[in-house]
Amino acid sequence: MNEQTRRRLNVERQRLLDRMHSLREFIRGSVVVLRRPCSYQGCRRCEAGVRHPALYHTVSKQGRTQTTYLGRSLAEACREQVEAYRRLEALVERISEVNLALLVGKER
Ligand SMILES: [Zn+2]
Repeated sequence: MNEQTRRRLNVERQRLLDRMHSLREFIRGSVVVLRRPCSYQGCRRCEAGVRHPALYHTVSKQGRTQTTYLGRSLAEACREQVEAYRRLEALVERISEVNLALLVGKER
């Protein structure tokens, strides 16, 4: 790898790290609609199988799904943070590629 390439990769990595640094609010997982039953006996919606659709955040942790109620008021903000998490993941992935290229002195 020549000096020019090394410099270009270092500049790119710094740019990616700066973008990472500005990403503070991120959440892993997804925002989903779940239809859960309520606790009222004889609820018509539950008996009809409609149940109670509502917005939740779900995230898988060690093979288990953790579910958190959001409701309409928090769903959009959560969605934005879920998207931010995906951008963060993409940044980490690219930095990892750049680091490997710098380590071995070769780009793929
Ligand atoms: Zn119900």
